[in-house]
Amino acid sequence: MFVNGEWKDSSSGENIPVLNPATGLSIAEVPSATDDDVAFAAESARISFDEGAWSKISPGERSTVLLKVASVIEERTEELAKLETKITGKSIKQTIGYDLPYTVDNIRFLAGAARILEGKAMGEYVREGTSAIRREAIGVVGVITPWNYPLMMVIWRAFPALAMGNSVIVKPASYTPLTTLELANMVEKAGVPKGVFNVITGPGGRVGEAIARNKNVDMIAFTGSTEVGKKLHELGSSTLKKVSVELGGKAPFIVFEDADLEAATESAIVGGLVNNGEDCANSTRYYVQESVKDKFTKRLMEKMKRVKVGNPMDPKTDVGPLISSSQRDRVEWYIEKGLEQGGKLLEGGDRPKIKGMEKGFYLNPAIISTENQQSAIVQEEIFGPVFSVLPFSTYDDAISKSNDVIYGLGSSVWTRNVTTAMNAVKDLRFGTVWVNEHVTVPSEMPWAGYKQSGHGASLSAYSLEEFTYIKHVYFDLTGKVRKSWYSQIYGGQ
Ligand code: NAP
Repeated sequence: MFVNGEWKDSSSGENIPVLNPATGLSIAEVPSATDDDVAFAAESARISFDEGAWSKISPGERSTVLLKVASVIEERTEELAKLETKITGKSIKQTIGYDLPYTVDNIRFLAGAARILEGKAMGEYVREGTSAIRREAIGVVGVITPWNYPLMMVIWRAFPALAMGNSVIVKPASYTPLTTLELANMVEKAGVPKGVFNVITGPGGRVGEAIARNKNVDMIAFTGSTEVGKKLHELGSSTLKKVSVELGGKAPFIVFEDADLEAATESAIVGGLVNNGEDCANSTRYYVQESVKDKFTKRLMEKMKRVKVGNPMDPKTDVGPLISSSQRDRVEWYIEKGLEQGGKLLEGGDRPKIKGMEKGFYLNPAIISTENQQSAIVQEEIFGPVFSVLPFSTYDDAISKSNDVIYGLGSSVWTRNVTTAMNAVKDLRFGTVWVNEHVTVPSEMPWAGYKQSGHGASLSAYSLEEFTYIKHVYFDLTGKVRKSWYSQIYGGQ
């Protein structure tokens, strides 16, 4: 672990294994932090914040350091992509071509945006004084991240916090801590002062909860499941911490009869399978207008047959293994449940045999046709490659079914009619609506949830504001001993 500028073992000496999901074999061990380790990390972060070697320098100076981290990551793209693939099972094509370059772009944007914060104009909102707004760092931020984009999620949550001058304690997911520990190395070398960036590892139920309860931690920035997000609100309430949560999703993909079906089905495959179907933005519910549903489904099945599931290190692989054996069991449970609840399996859902990797957690992506909007595969986040295809009749039917889940993260609509598209953009209760596309999020735009997908925003200038307090500063302009409004107390005296 990296705490107060030093590499440390757990004070208990206990470790937890890290597996390669492609082989099911252990590739490393990392420390399992104790409550004392968490308390020490939180205290170090607090001291570093109060001392000000990071919190009190200018945004430009912090930006310069963070840009160095981006350059080092860029130089080490291939090596880091391989490590990310090894711990997550996602294809090397994706980590080299997308995850790493995008992460570098995210950092460059955040580092630059920290220098151009915007706010209300300073001015005389009452006649006798001038008001101004300051944005100030919150203090110590506990960052708890998921396993699906291990490096990128730390950047999305810890880097806007750092850019605004906070100190952070990062707890990566236990399945995937290795690239986060590498990041600590790079952050240290780039010149972030000791105690400002800390990484501690260990099970969320203990380490994550200890961070959430700690009095030296002022804020929690969590990305993960809705269930744990709710728990963190409860834990943080004892010290009234600010808790920012980015949670699960269940994205609808709405295809109207006038849509370009070839473009829609091409995107449907990528939207559902990117990141092995373990992406909170994945399209999972395909609502297709009745008149074109058969045509759409036939093309979808043809394209799915061409998807190559296999060793994620092979550049020809499209989809690698799921993260763990229990995650695969969970996805299979949902497939069975979907069939029990009236669905028809059209494609996949079985375990492929990958030569030499028999213990890996592979699963062929499944397509299920169903009309049951209340089915578990339609209502709940599976977090695996399961496509539910459902019919809809009218515009209102499509929108009401799409909105009928507890989640509200990503959504997309496919049509050539601008009026239909603009109405859908307005009526869909989701933090992102794509029109004739699915998944793209530029660094400049917010990634934010509605409903139980959480609140707060990653990326964009909004993510920087998340990690600040807002302060009103008032300057008296009269120089008088008794201002006009004091008559409320002094009356006619
Ligand atoms: P998770 O089970 O909620 O775990 C996320 C993190 O929380 C891990 O570091 C985990 O540690 C820790 N944790 C677990 N229990 C905890 C507790 N009681 N108190 C404090 N921390 C605890 O989620 P996941 O399975 O890693 O990730 C998948 C989820 O993340 C999906 O729901 C997905 O939609 C969501 N996600 C959302 C976004 C977004 O931007 N909205 C992005 C990516 C992923 P351990 O690993 O040690 O259990």
